[in-house]
Amino acid sequence: MSEQAGTERLRDDAAGIARAAALLRAGGLVAFGTETVYGLGADATDARAVAAVFDAKGRPHFNPLIAHYPDAEAAFRHVEAPALARRLAERFWPGPLTLVLPRRAACPVALLAGAGLDTLAVRVPAGQTALTLLRGVGRPVAAPSANRSGEVSPTTAAHVLAGLDGRIAAVLDSGPCAVGLESTVIDLSAGRPFLLRPGGAAVSDIEAAVGPVGRGITPQAAEATRTLRSPGLLVSHYAPRLPVRLGAEAVGAWEGLLAFGPALPAAGCTFQLSAAGDVAEAAARLFAGLRWLDEEGGRLGLSGIAAMPVPAEGLGLAINDRLQRAAAPRS
Ligand code: AMP
Ligand code: MG
Repeated sequence: MSEQAGTERLRDDAAGIARAAALLRAGGLVAFGTETVYGLGADATDARAVAAVFDAKGRPHFNPLIAHYPDAEAAFRHVEAPALARRLAERFWPGPLTLVLPRRAACPVALLAGAGLDTLAVRVPAGQTALTLLRGVGRPVAAPSANRSGEVSPTTAAHVLAGLDGRIAAVLDSGPCAVGLESTVIDLSAGRPFLLRPGGAAVSDIEAAVGPVGRGITPQAAEATRTLRSPGLLVSHYAPRLPVRLGAEAVGAWEGLLAFGPALPAAGCTFQLSAAGDVAEAAARLFAGLRWLDEEGGRLGLSGIAAMPVPAEGLGLAINDRLQRAAAPRS
């Protein structure tokens, strides 16, 4: 669903924040101010709500989103946090620093929120309204900037409404953002710190706290382009190990089926993205499906994944983008 009648304007008083939390808990999209920019929030544990974020933004691809928490303790229940991460959290949270860390096995954040990756970006934003909201939701909130794809990040509620009015449940107005710049993103998943995006937390301050921060191509990206998979594969692109064949109408003897819609070819091993042919449901299940077929394929000795066509409309654009990357020739 990409159209919603009337976006609620909520004030940042107790009633407004409680209403915003209730909407988020019910799977709704709520834009809210942080010290960096306004985020477009969704319950990060609800894959359908996360899919709706990509839909509302009109993003033609899935990229990993930052999961927001009210405190470091809550964040580190979902990701593994080495001493370095704890030191940075102590020094910079709440604040404009995002840490990329390995997901814990029991991490309840939807795979779609992390674009299928084994890592998750986590942050504790500054700002009383945002923190009170996050405590009220009681679940991590996935939130990219609250603008349509390709437009600039919003730093006021009016900016948010200019792009997303009618597409989201509510905007919680806490006035203009104090920093107005995105968060600095540091990858700690490979052990030593690596800068993925400069932002509101100065790298020199981060280095003062934890020593040298790497820059340029991450070790994982270098490894990925050297040994693996599709050309152009970056660290933020999950792709299955098995080759993917697009637009499949029939299934080979040793292929698993990534199915879409009610009419299925016979296959031994099938993951149904959406029997109803609903692209939003399919988006919510895409990464879980690719992972499941990869694992089953390894167990059963399958040679590849046959992916049925998905219409290139709405979230179907992002689904096809990801499937095309997975299907690109590998060296
Ligand atoms: P935005 O949602 O616009 O604040 O952007 C989030 C930033 O964090 C993007 O630059 C993402 O590529 C990056 N990011 C989020 N999650 C991950 C992850 N698991 N691994 C690497 N980068 C990430
Ligand atoms: Mg953005």
